[in-house]
Amino acid sequence: MLNPPYPELDDILHVMGEAGKHLAAIEASEGAAGNISICLRWPMEPRSRFPVVGEIELPQPVPELAGASFLVSGSGRRLREIIDDPTANIACVVVNEAGKTGKLYTSFHRRFERVTSEFNSHLAVHYDQMLATGTNFHAIIHAQPVHLTYLSHIPRYGEEKYLNTHLLRWQPETIINLPEGIGFIPFHVPSSPELMTANVESLRRHRIVIWAKHGVMARSDVSLKRVADRVEYAETAARYEYLNLAAGEAASGLSVEEIRLICNTFNVKQDFF
Ligand SMILES: [Zn+2]
Repeated sequence: MLNPPYPELDDILHVMGEAGKHLAAIEASEGAAGNISICLRWPMEPRSRFPVVGEIELPQPVPELAGASFLVSGSGRRLREIIDDPTANIACVVVNEAGKTGKLYTSFHRRFERVTSEFNSHLAVHYDQMLATGTNFHAIIHAQPVHLTYLSHIPRYGEEKYLNTHLLRWQPETIINLPEGIGFIPFHVPSSPELMTANVESLRRHRIVIWAKHGVMARSDVSLKRVADRVEYAETAARYEYLNLAAGEAASGLSVEEIRLICNTFNVKQDFF
């Protein structure tokens, strides 16, 4: 939830650019992989930056979000290039009255036809979270960090207790930043309704979820930077885990007692250790 004064459109576009650049820097969005969206509920005039107006059918009806605005990366666009020319890579969707369609605002020099093909998964999570919490701001990133995705190919990491006790043990900050741990959903075809449904359910309980053999989705109702940080914290944990596997599991990480001490000191509630 954000309080006024609300950030200007240009500031939000700039932060989307910075997040995209950072995701590329941590090797979480090769080529055109990954997508970003933000939902905001304060009045915003998109036409200064997005003068071309069209109409789209929304992936699902969201009547309670009538009037809400979404800033979404375009299909096939590279997250690392948003910062150079945000409006060439991002669209604004404003939900129409009945919540079944939206106005699609774009720039004359947009380099995409449609918004990201994962918009269905983004919209479903925004909708679920906004109804549950009443927030006026919600940001989502889908990215494909190498080490997290690699570990998702090893069956034992598909069990959430095993996944979290192994990944949250490498640095004291990890459990503080991800107290609900990392969710895990089995492989589903990209953009499928099965992925959409499992993703919504897992993101009710976690702030970041692994999509097996594909990547992650993370969310925040505070800032997009925080979403990118979440991806980075989880990916750093997975990198330690990968290093340890490659080294023949020479290290055991923070002990259960040490992690409990950290949680007691910083008042972190968690169920893994
Ligand atoms: Zn993907």
